Amino acid sequence: MRRRVGRECWCGAGSARLVADVRVPDGASFPLVQCEQCKVYALHPAPSDAVLARYYLNEYYGKSRRKFVGPIAKAVDVFQGGRAHWVDGHLRQWHRGSFKRGRQPRLLDVGCGNGGFLMQMRDRGYDVEGTEWTAESARRIPSGARVPIHVGDLLTLDLPEHSFDAITLWHVFEHLRKPDETLEKIYRLLKPGGLLFLAMPNHESWQATRFGTNWFHLDPPRHLHGFGVKSLLVLLTIKRLQWLRVSTFSLEQNPYGFLQSLLNSLGYPRDRAYSVLKGTSRDALGTKLKDLSLVALLAPFAILHSLVEWLAGSGATMTVVAQKRGRD
Ligand SMILES: [Zn+2]
Repeated sequence: MRRRVGRECWCGAGSARLVADVRVPDGASFPLVQCEQCKVYALHPAPSDAVLARYYLNEYYGKSRRKFVGPIAKAVDVFQGGRAHWVDGHLRQWHRGSFKRGRQPRLLDVGCGNGGFLMQMRDRGYDVEGTEWTAESARRIPSGARVPIHVGDLLTLDLPEHSFDAITLWHVFEHLRKPDETLEKIYRLLKPGGLLFLAMPNHESWQATRFGTNWFHLDPPRHLHGFGVKSLLVLLTIKRLQWLRVSTFSLEQNPYGFLQSLLNSLGYPRDRAYSVLKGTSRDALGTKLKDLSLVALLAPFAILHSLVEWLAGSGATMTVVAQKRGRD
C-alpha cells in the first residue's frame, strides 16, 4: 500500500498517495504524490523558490536566445509555425464575427520563451503580447521583435480583464506553482467566448505509465504538477472553462520523449542526450557523438511508436482547447 500524505487539492480532497521519490542527476530527490480523488500528480512538498532557481539556470534555457543548437532550433521554428497555423484555424472558427469586422484579435502567450510563436501570430495579423517570469529569461526575445512583453508571474501582472480573444500556454502550465489560481486569472482576462490553449505532458499516457520515474516529461523538479486528460478536465470544469477538444499528437514532443525515456531506462544518465541537443552538455566529445548517434539510430522507431500511441489515444503530451462561455 502506497503511503498517504496530507495535501489540500482544488478538487476538495485532503490527502494524496506517495507515488515515487524522483531522483535527479545531482543526487537530489523529490517526492511525487497523486491526489486520491482527481488523480492529479504533484511534487509535494513543492521545492522552494531557491531550489527551483538552481534548476532554471542556463541548463534549462540553453546558452543563447535559442533553447537548442542550430538544426534543432530550426526544427522548433517549423513546429512553432505549425502551432500558429493550428491556433489561427481555431480562432477563425470560433471568432468568425471579429475577423469579419476586420478587428485584430488579441492574443496573450504566457511564458512566451524566445517569442517565436508570438511573432508567427503577429505576422498572421494578431495583436500579440507575451509574459516571461524574469527579465533575464525575457532577454531571449530578439530586440527588434516588436512584441510587448510583461515580466513577472501572470498572477501578479496588471492586465486588462475581459480583453483577450485567446490565451496560450505552451508547456508552461506544469511549471506553475498555482495552476488553479492561474486559471481563475485567465478566466478574468479572457473575453466571453475567448479560447484557452494549454499544451503539457499527458500523465495518463502510455509513455508515462511505461517509463515511470524515467519518463522524460516528468522533468523533475521543474514540473510541479502533472495532469492527464481526466484530471485536467476536473480542474477546467471547477474554473468554469468549457473543454472543447484535446489532441495528443505532437511530432515535436512525443518521439523525443519516447527516445530519451528509453535511454534513461537503459541506465544512461538522466536526459544526457537532451543536454547535447540544447548545447549545455559538458561531456567529452566522444560521449556527445555517441549520444547523438543513438538518437539518430532510434529516431525512426520513436516516430513510429509515437504514431501508434497517438492512434491509441494515448500520446505522451496533450494540447487542450477550452473556452470561456459566452458570445463573441
Ligand atoms: Zn485532487
